[in-house]
Amino acid sequence: MSHQIGEKDLNASHLKSGGLIPQRQPQTVTIRCMAPGGRLTAARLRRIADVAEKYGRGLVHLSVRMSPEILYVPLDQVEEARQELAEVGQLIATCGQRFRVPTACGGCEYNPNGLVETQKLAEEISHRFFGRPAFHKFKVALAGCPIDCTRSREMDLGFQGQVEPAILSEKCTGCTLCVSACQDQALEMKDGLPQREESQCLRCGACIQVCPFGAMTSRTVGYAVYAGGRHGKHPHVAYPVAQLLPEGLVLPFIEAVLDWYQEQGQRGERLGAAIDRVGLKSLLMHLSSQFAEFLLSSRDIGQSRWRKIFYRGVAEAFPDYDLPAGAKEGGRV
Ligand code: SF4
Ligand code: SF4
Ligand code: SF4
Repeated sequence: MSHQIGEKDLNASHLKSGGLIPQRQPQTVTIRCMAPGGRLTAARLRRIADVAEKYGRGLVHLSVRMSPEILYVPLDQVEEARQELAEVGQLIATCGQRFRVPTACGGCEYNPNGLVETQKLAEEISHRFFGRPAFHKFKVALAGCPIDCTRSREMDLGFQGQVEPAILSEKCTGCTLCVSACQDQALEMKDGLPQREESQCLRCGACIQVCPFGAMTSRTVGYAVYAGGRHGKHPHVAYPVAQLLPEGLVLPFIEAVLDWYQEQGQRGERLGAAIDRVGLKSLLMHLSSQFAEFLLSSRDIGQSRWRKIFYRGVAEAFPDYDLPAGAKEGGRV
């Protein structure tokens, strides 16, 4: 049965809330399919292809944020297409001013560099937050390690896996492989053992991967958190806000940031613009009641690692991170 088209259907923001993007061709839409973390089963992929052939022109476009988009679907056939997709559990995404489908790389499941389980978390985040209305679009990305293939610093909230290495001196042979593997000159040999300079370390785990004797190991694994990024016409690099956040605190952290955004943001304002208008300290204060031990402090943000991570001038322009007396002190380094 064909979907009856009413005035409401033709309203662009109404269409976008349902994951339909009006095309320049009249009465024609793109259907954006949901794929948290960019992952699909083969059955869903086949059905997307079938629907694209049946209702569209046999074309599927992969959006830059990992959503398969079925092109050239007549508006009056959307409902049939949606039902056929739903039969295999393929849901439709959303666009517009709301929490978007999170993106993620493969993480530690199969990627040798991966430090955390990004795919699992992308599913959980999508399940809890997807489609929640916001003052503007709200994008989250997860990267399995500081290489940051998902460009998490360009998102409203970005999470990057990171590890704090530890040396087991009794196992170390002094082979120096870890020192050679560290591209950030954070390791040097002293008295036959590698010594790590914390302020230089990007917590990438390359030294752990390369050690053949299990002498370089991980003390803590968690997420570096970045807030307020965006790309587009007015790009904004996100502020680093937390480090080594445990996986179990990622969802509460997102919830707390959304609470602050809801309280302090304005209609049409991205999170980064709200932070710039209200002040990063306001957000940090809000987060400090739950996440104080993981928040960055001015002392942390003054470390030289940030000047290696960001392009010239960005780290130097970070605001003051110190919270007023009475707030719990952030930072753990
Ligand atoms: S961010 Fe790291 S774990 Fe993820 S794909 Fe890139 S290299 Fe692999
Ligand atoms: S974690 Fe990465 S940056 Fe830190 S010492 Fe090891 S290799 Fe170097
Ligand atoms: S690679 Fe392992 S064994 Fe070799 S120096 Fe580093 S920690 Fe020691």
